[in-house]
Amino acid sequence: DDGLAGLPASVREQVQNHPCFSEKAHHHFARMHVAVAPACNIQCHYCNRKYDCSNESRPGVVSEVLTPDQAIRKVKAVAAAIPQMTVLGIAGPGDPLANPERTFETFRRLSEETPDIKLCVSTNGLRLPEFADEIARYNIQHVTITINCLDPEIGARIYPWIFWNHRRIRGVKAAKILIRNQLKGLEMLVERGVLVKVNSVMIPGVNDHHLAEVSRAVKERGAFLHNVMPLIAEAEHGTFYGVTGQRAPSNAELHALQESCSDSMSMMRHCRQCRADAVGMLGEDRGQEFTLDKIASQE
Ligand code: SF4
Ligand code: SF4
Repeated sequence: DDGLAGLPASVREQVQNHPCFSEKAHHHFARMHVAVAPACNIQCHYCNRKYDCSNESRPGVVSEVLTPDQAIRKVKAVAAAIPQMTVLGIAGPGDPLANPERTFETFRRLSEETPDIKLCVSTNGLRLPEFADEIARYNIQHVTITINCLDPEIGARIYPWIFWNHRRIRGVKAAKILIRNQLKGLEMLVERGVLVKVNSVMIPGVNDHHLAEVSRAVKERGAFLHNVMPLIAEAEHGTFYGVTGQRAPSNAELHALQESCSDSMSMMRHCRQCRADAVGMLGEDRGQEFTLDKIASQE
């Protein structure tokens, strides 16, 4: 049983070779991320811009930020070397939709030049309503939205500010706008036949008791999968509320929360919190084999 048996044929086709959307597929298919999106339009307390976006990725060495043209060359080089590579994602190092020209130029060219590769994007969701049609236009069938809460009071403890309509907005007011756009964006994508995965970062003492409710709410709106990821609280990843000492959840706490959410929602349990420039099967990172100088020497 691949866990997909109850799904309509069109959805099965959409997920069966995506390593993140299907637990089974991750043993057979590989994904790559290209880091074409340096800017971000919100601030998460857990993010230190020296590292990749925690929407999708864990702290590591700073990604090499690529131009769309460099990204296309890298995708082609990887596709030639790794035949199991079925999915190309844009996940950072900032927010892909805060860099719409770079992101959509990359997707547009890939949809023309490598039409067999499935496209996927992950975002904080702030500008999702604005870009839902464009996402559908390039046949991007998989989107991940990071939704950490539905309650703006909790949101104000996670996001110090957002940048919206040319202004910096803070506190509860900012969180309200972000949450509204995330949920609206989710609904718009579902209406357009896009499969949506919701990522949530579990932050003990801040949103841990609230995430089961997030799971129910996103399921109601048609999300396909919920992925609760642990906060990575390492000293070099910056501070939380400007205070060091915000702890990460233990494995037992994470698993207990995933268990409680699974009553209402399909949970992803095989996420590896990949870097924004990860290449290969989940759990392996072959990015170093495909740096720009190595690609240039092969061309
Ligand atoms: Fe950092 Fe991503 Fe949050 Fe932007 S959305 S602040 S890049 S974690
Ligand atoms: Fe898939 Fe998780 Fe890696 Fe994203 S971070 S590519 S969801 S395994």
